[in-house]
Amino acid sequence: DVRTVNVPLGSRAYDVLIGPGLVARAGALIGERLGPARCAIVTDRNVASFHLAALEAALGADGRLVGSIVLPPGESTKSFRELEPLCERLLDTGLERGDLVVALGGGVIGDLAGFAAAILRRGVRFVQIPTSLLAQVDSSVGGKTGIDTPQGKNLIGAFHQPGLVLADTDVLGTLPERELRAGYAEVAKYGLLGDAPFFAWLEKNHPSVFALDPGPLTHAVETSVKAKAGIVGRDETEQGERALLNLGHTFGHAFEAWCGYSDRLLHGEAISIGMCIAFRFSAAQGFCDAAAADRVAAHFTAVGLPTRIGDIPGDKPDIEAMMKLMAQDKKVRHGKLTFILARGVGEAFIARDVPPDTVRGFLAGEI
Ligand code: NAD
Ligand code: ZN
Repeated sequence: DVRTVNVPLGSRAYDVLIGPGLVARAGALIGERLGPARCAIVTDRNVASFHLAALEAALGADGRLVGSIVLPPGESTKSFRELEPLCERLLDTGLERGDLVVALGGGVIGDLAGFAAAILRRGVRFVQIPTSLLAQVDSSVGGKTGIDTPQGKNLIGAFHQPGLVLADTDVLGTLPERELRAGYAEVAKYGLLGDAPFFAWLEKNHPSVFALDPGPLTHAVETSVKAKAGIVGRDETEQGERALLNLGHTFGHAFEAWCGYSDRLLHGEAISIGMCIAFRFSAAQGFCDAAAADRVAAHFTAVGLPTRIGDIPGDKPDIEAMMKLMAQDKKVRHGKLTFILARGVGEAFIARDVPPDTVRGFLAGEI
């Protein structure tokens, strides 16, 4: 029951395999597609405790494993502080240009190990084995890699596409429930931005997705990856259409920043609120009807995700702080705010030059 989605990038095209049992078969799958390269695994402590032994066994069997590097879990690992020793340890394994960095983990490990692969020897190949739902449907596909700095998230990085992505749906069984829910927000995003039938399918089938029922779960991941692969294939470096993937993210990033990128608000929770706001804002601007905005919020409520600024625990964000944080978003061009808005479920569009005062006024009503 393994599904294959191709990311169409010409000579750098690659496959995303989705389904159960892929970690155990990783050695053979990598061998078939990428040849007899040697592999260095990068992972974090949480993921290592559940899944590293299985991957080491799969890669060790044919003698291609040169080492495993286990890093601390958490967003703070995506830093220069961790990048430097990681690069040195990878060089110490004797990894050469034709060899592979294998990122086993969530988006943190994928972004960091992918970036290390991008800069090591001016670019070594890498394989993503995403272990969080967010990483399977979003961060492992598309080639954005990087780290955070005190100036902001993901401000240092590179586009570096993987050679293969193995999204093993079995590994989601050990993912904490809250992380699963947060990753689900990105799944729903693909329905909201361009695939109304998928959103309707999720409204009906979300309980089986959350129960990790293999059929529905694989379908949800596959549909998401297909959507992302299509967009990335048409607009790899975000000159246009790829920006649609930021639905809910301009608002969401401001909430995350307000919460200091802490456990107070996970990324998926922030964009759940952000997507609900994007739809309510779209309705307020006359782009879509209020019923669409209500439908979006009702679905996120049904799966236990937050939908309003008031759902953020702790002190209420203040509007001027939000406006400032949104103005710092790296999607800002010439000081103008760009939002992804919607004409309805499945009909997102890029709205450039949204006047700050319109946003300010709208947020005042939201807080
Ligand atoms: P994460 O990597 O921190 O993983 C979340 C938590 O779950 C961690 O504690 C991790 O150790 C744990 N975990 C992961 N898989 C597990 C498993 N199978 N079993 C048990 N525990 C497991 O966070 P994330 O949500 O996966 O990714 C967030 C990161 O992704 C952010 O840094 C964000 O900037 C980045 N991101 C990148 C892109 C991109 O295109 N490159 C897109 C979206 C997000
Ligand atoms: Zn996101």
